[in-house]
Amino acid sequence: MQIPTWQRRKMSAEKRKALELAEQQVPPAQKFASQGYTYLHPFACFSCRKSFKRASQTRAVLPCPNCGGPSIGLTRKFKPPKQSDLRQWAKVEALVRNGFLFWGHLGTYPETLREVEAFSIRNAGFAIRQRHRDLAQFLEIEAAFDEIGRRRSVT
Ligand SMILES: [Zn+2]
Repeated sequence: MQIPTWQRRKMSAEKRKALELAEQQVPPAQKFASQGYTYLHPFACFSCRKSFKRASQTRAVLPCPNCGGPSIGLTRKFKPPKQSDLRQWAKVEALVRNGFLFWGHLGTYPETLREVEAFSIRNAGFAIRQRHRDLAQFLEIEAAFDEIGRRRSVT
């Protein structure tokens, strides 16, 4: 549930804190999805270059059913590239590493890896605010990328 800032300011510190804690239970990629419905959300595995859908409302990272490594929850706006399309998967990974989980209201997402840097700079404020608000979950996502890196250096 999205509560506007003006409304939050009127709350007691205690109530605001409770609200913030409750909000942390929702993975960041699902934060802006309509509430009250159970949607399937895509989770992307950058090791397998596959995505699978889960109804999870609680985790930002889930084990990939294919390789057991970490897969990262993205919004329903995410459309997985073909497994063979290495360049598109590299683009998606760069975006997610920069903290962009395919939220709809950032407009058009980059079409190529080359455009990711400019897009990330343009929307840096937004990404920083999301990370600050859902720090624990973003730390989980960052730990997932550490694990992905470890798995790559082994194979
Ligand atoms: Zn996998």
